[in-house]
Amino acid sequence: MPQLPHFRIASASKRLAILFALLLSASVLSQTAHATTDSYQRVSLELPEPSRIDTLVQNENTIEQPALREHRYTLQRNQSLSHALQGIADNGNLLWRIGRHENAHYFTRLRTGDELVMWLTEDGELARMELNRTPTLTYILETNDELADGMAIYAERKEVKTRIVMASGDISDSFYLGVQAVGASPRTIMNLADIYSWEVDFVRELREGDEFTIIYERRYIDGEYIGDGAILAAQLNLKHRNRTINAFRFEQDGELLGYFNENGDNLRKAFMRNPINYTRISSRFQRGRYHPVLQEIRDHKGVDYAAPTGTPIYAAGDGTVKFRGWGRGYGNYIILQHAGRYETVYGHMSRFGKFQQGQRVKQGDVIGYVGMTGLATGPHLHYEFRINGVHHDPLTVEFPGGDPVAAEHKTTFAQWAGLLNSQLRRTDPEVTQLATLFE
Ligand SMILES: [Zn+2]
Repeated sequence: MPQLPHFRIASASKRLAILFALLLSASVLSQTAHATTDSYQRVSLELPEPSRIDTLVQNENTIEQPALREHRYTLQRNQSLSHALQGIADNGNLLWRIGRHENAHYFTRLRTGDELVMWLTEDGELARMELNRTPTLTYILETNDELADGMAIYAERKEVKTRIVMASGDISDSFYLGVQAVGASPRTIMNLADIYSWEVDFVRELREGDEFTIIYERRYIDGEYIGDGAILAAQLNLKHRNRTINAFRFEQDGELLGYFNENGDNLRKAFMRNPINYTRISSRFQRGRYHPVLQEIRDHKGVDYAAPTGTPIYAAGDGTVKFRGWGRGYGNYIILQHAGRYETVYGHMSRFGKFQQGQRVKQGDVIGYVGMTGLATGPHLHYEFRINGVHHDPLTVEFPGGDPVAAEHKTTFAQWAGLLNSQLRRTDPEVTQLATLFE
């Protein structure tokens, strides 16, 4: 292995440090799956866990006495611990001893459906009892003459192990099927669509042949998969637009700052492209349009989104309700004032949301519902985007971005993004050869 560049890891996030160490140590990197079909190709890299977690797992299953008999009891309605302990030797005394233990509540505050797993001696005495309170929290009772009061009641927490996995594929039938085919969960698919939602409309803009790669977390308890964690990095290659968009998750001190491209630009924009889940665009921004109701030639200074009456309308960006009321032509409508010189306008609402004039709204808040009040031939949202009072086409106007990576985090981010980026590029056969030289 050639000399690797020296990085200052101490100031970086813990996750960066762990991933960094794992990636640089080529011997621990194993390629576990590589399959190619017509519709997609899959490359998964599974990185092993930090060893401390293996140690914890080994500490379980400490009961090694072979003579014990397992007995399970599920609590029915209005039952308590005494029901579960019926039939167990000396259970009156046992209940009394549990009751005086400082952790008695682990086993006395039971709920319908709780399952107690007990191990009994040949004499029918309770040796051990367990209750899985949550997937990661187990309450345990042990009896043993050597313990104070002959009993211990304690809680054991299991570690959630996180593996970092890379997967890539093509879009074939649909985005959903494409990502699912590489083993990602529905939640991860939604997260991926969310990360890119300011750049790409996943339902309408993805085309067959577009490619994606994701590096994401898979979570396990005791080796059992329990679900996906965060997406750490993603790459979307829009072949038809000849455009590749990278996304790198970045957090500092446990706080998610967002997803950024390799230049540190925020993928999130100050405005959503479409403030509604629409059926179709029924009229575009244009000069000199024939107005169907007024029956004359007029400019159309916004976009009409056809959608069923009652469809929620979202605030396109953070701002304040500048106007809420009735306007000729507009019907029930709202003007939002955004930072600086931006305004958005929403017309023909059937009714308003809960935000009053003067109140602040966050991007994505429901401000009203589709209707056909005012001059409208069918239910739709008339939407305008104004900069300094001048109308712009909402579908093409350049939006200001969210905050980029802050100056004080630039170095850390560059290391993190560079590392992930080199991983993302491993699916490219030519780059893989280069990467192999480093292993
Ligand atoms: Zn309109």
